[in-house]
Amino acid sequence: MTENDVRQKIIDLCLQMNATGLNQGTSGNISARFDNAMLITPSGIPYEKLLPEDIARLSLDDDGGEWEGPCKPSSEWDFHKSILRAKPELNGIIHTHSMFATIVSIARENIPACHYMIAAFGGNSVVCADYATFGTPELSANILVAMEDRSACLLANHGMIAGGKDLDNAMWAAVELETLAKQYYHAKLAGGMVVLPDDEMARVVEKFKNYGQVQKPESA
Ligand code: 13P
Ligand code: ZN
Repeated sequence: MTENDVRQKIIDLCLQMNATGLNQGTSGNISARFDNAMLITPSGIPYEKLLPEDIARLSLDDDGGEWEGPCKPSSEWDFHKSILRAKPELNGIIHTHSMFATIVSIARENIPACHYMIAAFGGNSVVCADYATFGTPELSANILVAMEDRSACLLANHGMIAGGKDLDNAMWAAVELETLAKQYYHAKLAGGMVVLPDDEMARVVEKFKNYGQVQKPESA
């Protein structure tokens, strides 16, 4: 993919997350690693107005906020950059204010292993990061704690973050996390839940390492 392809892909996924109801308005933001830089949506511009050149570019060599491009980057550039710098296995990051993940974040609850799919995020829970004002280094620090050994988290009174090995994988993860939050919310309303035990979740986490289309071994 060229840099322009990645810029267009970010815009396509922004339009998709709003069209499918996963996100709304100019809430949320999307970033991708490209070489040693981060490409990220600009702040507060309706997604249908975005052009590839509007996507901001920030170096991943340092933790500063200098950007290239005509538009100011997302107010959440700091946490996108912190995650990409701390987690080399993640190359796409999606932040949304999706309905059910946000409701659970308002209750400031971690999502437990109420469904085996929670293993898609690396363990037996999705943790809710402690509250801090949006766009602050404090929020980024809280997120890195919540995402220890995980590729996703909730943000207290705010929303969620899902990362992936590429942008498509990050969008898949964001949809799965919202689904999980919806199932958790409704299971609680329906009267409770059986949480899967740690030894079963350890097995599922291992199985997930080979989930989907993995590379065929080379024939001899
Ligand atoms: P931006 O438009 O600055 O990306 O902000 C949206 C958001 O979700 C802030 O948390
Ligand atoms: Zn937000």
